[in-house]
Amino acid sequence: MAIMVQKFGGSSVGSPERMRRVARRIAEAADAGNQVAVVVSAMGDTTDDLIALSRELNPRPSRREMDMLLSTGEQQSIALLAMTLQNMGYDAISLTGRQAGFHTDGAYATAKILSIDTGRVREELDAGRIVIVAGFQGVDSRGEINTLGRGGSDTSAVALAIGLNADVCEIFTDVDGVYTADPRIVKKAWKMPEVSYDEMLEMAAMGALVLQPRSVELAKQYGVKLHVRSSFNHNEGTIVKEEANMNKDMEKELIVCGVAHDMNVLKVTLFGVPDRPGVAGDIFSQLSRLGVNVDMIVQSGSRDMRQDISFTCGRDDRAKVESIMQSIVRQLPAENYTVVDTVAKISVVGAGMITHPGVAATMFKVFSENKVNIWMISTSEIKISCIIDEDEVTKALLSLHTAFGLDDENA
Ligand code: ASP
Ligand code: MG
Repeated sequence: MAIMVQKFGGSSVGSPERMRRVARRIAEAADAGNQVAVVVSAMGDTTDDLIALSRELNPRPSRREMDMLLSTGEQQSIALLAMTLQNMGYDAISLTGRQAGFHTDGAYATAKILSIDTGRVREELDAGRIVIVAGFQGVDSRGEINTLGRGGSDTSAVALAIGLNADVCEIFTDVDGVYTADPRIVKKAWKMPEVSYDEMLEMAAMGALVLQPRSVELAKQYGVKLHVRSSFNHNEGTIVKEEANMNKDMEKELIVCGVAHDMNVLKVTLFGVPDRPGVAGDIFSQLSRLGVNVDMIVQSGSRDMRQDISFTCGRDDRAKVESIMQSIVRQLPAENYTVVDTVAKISVVGAGMITHPGVAATMFKVFSENKVNIWMISTSEIKISCIIDEDEVTKALLSLHTAFGLDDENA
């Protein structure tokens, strides 16, 4: 008998109707003779609503109480889903993160899963039950409830698949899979049949928020194949695995597998920073102490022993950044600073870049032909990212998608 792990995101269980549809999907897998363990997120916007509610009562709630609160979202959905299945005549049982054996490291809000003891889950599966597990949560060695960061149910599902040595790990979501670009903007984007872990990590980290990046890291580490697919239809989705072959047409070798964009970018520049050892260390340790998640960093060449340093982070970190820039300018001292929130990040991703030079040149040529100014550039082995004005994102996405041969001509 095969063991299947299925994960359903919040939008897939966002209403009673959707909950029933998910239950039918699970029932199908059970009817086909599989042992089915399901990980589920909180219904719809529950997590956001709970965050908003907490802020009304305390603008700076403690992380412990936030985890206590947010973990209830998943606890509602597991019980409701188990009831739905029971009402359909299936033997189902819901388990919290603790009951399902998720041990976490004690870091409220950003916990990592240290180990998973699947004894109880296996027992229930062997008794013929469908097991519904709360995603996004675990308990630390003191019994404290920890959550795994936004989107953490994906990571719960991968961990459960590892713990159960599952044959299949399906991640159900509200899109058909992973696309070459956002299909709402790029009409000629298409669903990749396969994508490698590394490419998926780059895409995920860049706003193609189909999977929590940590879930992809974990899947890569243990070689768990993921099938990302829609909970609204039976189409094949995207398989995330070690080596991907995404070419629809074997004749045509694609070097770039996708063009991603991220609008959640804040660009901060410090002008006239003294050029001496220790300055960057000082600036970025102050930012890290405040919990600002810095993405790109660029330092200009030095003139007159001064230089400019720019970095990007998420727009939600704006208040934290602003709270210390004044004092950083005074301490260093630097000349001044700017904070700009009208920029976005565009990235081209593809494992083919490792062996094919010229991707950056093509990208910059596309920008120059379209009169798109580049503010910052950063690269990894399989990705090139540029910060551009947010108004130019649509134009940039469309023209890069064409230039890298990604357009689906039948679309
Ligand atoms: N409910 C949590 C969130 O909204 C976890 C998840 O959906 O995976 O982030
Ligand atoms: Mg999600």
